[in-house]
Amino acid sequence: MPLQTKTLQSIRVRISAVIVTGSVCGALIFEFAWVPRLTELIVNAQSREIRREAEILSDGILPYLLSNQIGAAYETLSVVENRYDNWVAVTLYDAEGQVLYPLEDRQPETGQYHVTETAMIAFEGRDLGRLSVVADIEPEILRLRNEVWRIVSAGLGVLALILLGIAFVVDRLFIRRLIQVAHAADELAVGNYELSLPKGDDEIGQLAHRFESMRIRIQDQTDSLREARARAEVALEARSRFLATVSHEIRTPLNGIIPAAELLSDTPLDAAQRQKVDIILTSGKALTTIVDDILDVSMFENGKLVLRDAPFSPAEICADAFEILRANAEAKGLALIKDCTVPADLICRGDANRLRQILINLLGNAVKFTKEGSVSFAGSATETSDDRARLVFEVTDTGIGIETVALPRIFQRFEQADGSMTRRFGGSGLGLSIVKSLVDAMGGTVSVQSVLGVGSTFRVEVELDVTSAPVKHAEEATPEPALIGAGRSALIVDDNEINLTVAAAMLARLGFDVETADTGEAALAKTRNRTFDIIFMDMHMPEMDGLIATRHIRNGPGLNTATKIVALTASVQAEDMEKCRAAGMDTLLAKPLRIDTLQAFLSG
Ligand code: ADP
Repeated sequence: MPLQTKTLQSIRVRISAVIVTGSVCGALIFEFAWVPRLTELIVNAQSREIRREAEILSDGILPYLLSNQIGAAYETLSVVENRYDNWVAVTLYDAEGQVLYPLEDRQPETGQYHVTETAMIAFEGRDLGRLSVVADIEPEILRLRNEVWRIVSAGLGVLALILLGIAFVVDRLFIRRLIQVAHAADELAVGNYELSLPKGDDEIGQLAHRFESMRIRIQDQTDSLREARARAEVALEARSRFLATVSHEIRTPLNGIIPAAELLSDTPLDAAQRQKVDIILTSGKALTTIVDDILDVSMFENGKLVLRDAPFSPAEICADAFEILRANAEAKGLALIKDCTVPADLICRGDANRLRQILINLLGNAVKFTKEGSVSFAGSATETSDDRARLVFEVTDTGIGIETVALPRIFQRFEQADGSMTRRFGGSGLGLSIVKSLVDAMGGTVSVQSVLGVGSTFRVEVELDVTSAPVKHAEEATPEPALIGAGRSALIVDDNEINLTVAAAMLARLGFDVETADTGEAALAKTRNRTFDIIFMDMHMPEMDGLIATRHIRNGPGLNTATKIVALTASVQAEDMEKCRAAGMDTLLAKPLRIDTLQAFLSG
């Protein structure tokens, strides 16, 4: 229940508590303070009354005592004594204090409320005796007390009723309306703008009025925020689509350039020609990395990053990353030191490719930003009790280091510690942001320690599940690549002529008997009459795309309903993977196709 409503309800409770406490206090004050005083007043009044009556009686018997008619005095006294119910004893003493009446001995009467009053009997200065009257005033006290109690109870009752009435009015006029405002605030908090607010010209009415103005302002602001967000989402979507399209468009020619250069470098070339082919290859690969990074970033922005969850060996990943960077480090004359204590038999579940990408990025930066000295790569694993392994990787270099002020921003997109470095060292400023996004997605941490001019240490920590499942090696190179396709037939389908030619040349080089098709329809025609061992299918083609063509091939008629079909696409995204599987494709390869990737894939 919301806080405000609780507070307002407690006002009701408080008012009720005040009424009850007031009534109880009133009753207690009456009982303990007023009743003793009342009793005292009643006793005094009763005493006065009895004295007065004793005096009247003594006046009445004076003539009898003067004329010595003691019998008549006795009679008068006994008549009077009997007439008063509350008189307990009447005693007449002579001047010497001897008891004249009553004649018999009586036990002295005692009681809490017995009052004794004495009247002197004298005539012309002569003391004739005294008359003592003892009366029990308890019944009178009780009667009067009860009477007063009734009046006080009725008074308290009436007071309580009045207070309850006031409470009811306060509740109606204020509390309910305040609760209504509180409910309206709750509704507003959950985004409901249809509010029921109290009316009126008093302070609560004004509060409701201001609340209503606030509601209108909040609604307006929320609406404009929603619109802005929708616009931003559309813009982001458009930007991602643009990035994906541009990357696709860049990848397509790269798909031609890199494999063609690779094929060319396998042919006899003189030194100058080889140098130029190497330049084409290096530049093409650098461009592929940038395009891949841009695609990754757009994937993170759209929340489309899906990490694989498959068994892999972290030790192998360390070795892979290290080997990939070895040539670069050696070319720069750097010492590349590896200190990996991750056990070779440790198998974890996770995304091996993404972990490799993280390590390659960090090692790549270390090599890039170090002119002389060394780059060290340390990896360790500690198994935790709950079948998880904590993997820690550290890449340390003796490079240019990073200024302390720049450290917080190097993990942000397009940020570089020093803008002038782009020209000196190259780079897009995306690498570390991708590392951070990937490590975050794995639930790990990445941190850096660096001293300008001395060097940097990047540290990645991730925790992964340990498993005993075997690792599937999809990309193991075979010692005899040329034989992979020998005696096997392959169909390659691509609407882009360059891609088609290059892929066909690569497959032919691997020993395949290759046929090509430049449309989905042409592919269907070819698969109808000939059985292939493998089909490479471009996903994006005009008219009949790869997905539709695959469905047709799978559903028949034709000779390739069970043939392995590999999707070729420039944008390898999780959703593409799903689409390919749903269409009946077996797996997916990223363009541009490279002969070593193709070789590794085919031998897997
Ligand atoms: P890029 O390397 O493409 O510029 P990164 O996101 O990988 O982008 O790195 C961001 C910036 O962090 C780099 O431009 C560089 O200023 C700094 N940086 C990263 N790694 C190192 C390193 N090992 N030594 C020095 N500076 C580094």
